Amino acid sequence: MPIDATAPYDDQNIFAKILRGEIPNKTVYEDEYALAFHDINPQAPHHILVIPKGAYVSWDDFSANAPETEIAGFIRAVGKVAREAGLVEPGYRLLANVGMDAHQEVPHLHVHIFAGRKLGPMLAQD
Ligand code: AMP
Repeated sequence: MPIDATAPYDDQNIFAKILRGEIPNKTVYEDEYALAFHDINPQAPHHILVIPKGAYVSWDDFSANAPETEIAGFIRAVGKVAREAGLVEPGYRLLANVGMDAHQEVPHLHVHIFAGRKLGPMLAQD
């Protein structure tokens, strides 16, 4: 079910549980600001999720409320994950769903990294 991106942070969400080590994940990268792991239901040959360590519901929450150090650390981590996976050439796509219309399902900010095939048009047609 898509979530309301303006709701308060729910610390029982699945990515909060992954950050606390209560649920396993296939970690790709971890540092002070971010954790990256393989998506459980990959939509491309490479499908990695990068999440901030802090408790932010969405990109909207994060961009409005996170301190500069966390924003810089997270964005650098997203770039580093893609670079270290060798995705810069031939290319990759970033996606962050925010709220109902975008079909955000997990209420902890996550950036999807897709790569490994031609990714087609930016949005699916209705
Ligand atoms: P979104 O629709 O942008 O909220 O995407 C949520 C993503 O989280 C989907 O691509 C799911 O396949 C993925 N996902 C859900 N649970 C897990 C999990 N336990 N480990 C890895 N990925 C997950």
